[in-house]
Amino acid sequence: MISTPVNATDETRRHLVDEINRLRQERGAVILAHNYQIPAIQDLADSVGDSLGLAQAATEIDAPVIVMCGVYFMAETVKILNPSRTVLIPDSKAGCSLADSITAEQLRAWKAEHPGAVVVSYVNTTAEVKAESDVCVTSGNAEAVIRSIPEDQEILFCPDLFLGSHLERVTGRKMHIWLGECHVHAGIRPQEMDANRARFPDSDLLIHPECGCSSHFVWANGNGVMKSNRTYVLSTEGMLRHARQSSSNSFLIATETGLLHRLQKEMPTKTFIAADDHAVCRYMKMITLQNLYESLRDLRQEVIVPEEIIEKASRAVSRMLAIKP
Ligand code: SF4
Repeated sequence: MISTPVNATDETRRHLVDEINRLRQERGAVILAHNYQIPAIQDLADSVGDSLGLAQAATEIDAPVIVMCGVYFMAETVKILNPSRTVLIPDSKAGCSLADSITAEQLRAWKAEHPGAVVVSYVNTTAEVKAESDVCVTSGNAEAVIRSIPEDQEILFCPDLFLGSHLERVTGRKMHIWLGECHVHAGIRPQEMDANRARFPDSDLLIHPECGCSSHFVWANGNGVMKSNRTYVLSTEGMLRHARQSSSNSFLIATETGLLHRLQKEMPTKTFIAADDHAVCRYMKMITLQNLYESLRDLRQEVIVPEEIIEKASRAVSRMLAIKP
């Protein structure tokens, strides 16, 4: 039995990594990690990405066991796409404030107020909410999905208020938007970002659309005019693409700080700075080497989604995968 004391030594961590590698071979398991995971988890994962990238990776995997290092709705999405596989999450209490902001019951009541409307749900929702939705989106393909819906069709968008408002601005579509938010992105402070902009004037500012402050930095008072041509609203994968292609060498990153590890690892000659270093998701950080090791050792904690929910939710998730950004 290995246990990691709070002040675990490098040797203990190396031993845990060795055990994880041995067990994943033994179990025929693959490890998926979200961009916001701690560096040690990202470094040993078979695939690191955003919700869309991981959902796609999950469909291409030929392994009996998938371990999702992320939050619970992500593990549910992997299960929806891979119902015959064993899907594990190292800590099933790793939740999401955004996914918790709407329940299936609330969505059913909202739909009853708007019969015939198309329900577009951000992927950060529970399996039950997905089952009540017509199509899911990620921040990477949401704009393409909204543009694909006929002009005269009423749209209910949930649960993220800020992503929904951003989509209204870029597509010109009016939607009914649920008033949910991610506490991490909503908490990114414009004053902190203003101060960092002043300190790093040559940096591109990359803002995740879940941030409440995107309208403050990008758009001039709702008239659809960009304030600065060095400011971009992008999904996490969009940020990686932008940084790879940009001639700029310095970037202020307004999203959960876990993404900085992947950016810096992939582009060591460029500089990445957290626009607000308080932007840390405690749920994402609940996955550790210790509970990943235990998850593989004991094949727990298994993600169970009822069959009828999988059947309904998989329609909305498959539509999401069919529409490219
Ligand atoms: S960063 Fe926000 S949206 Fe992402 S898992 Fe954490 S609470 Fe949910």
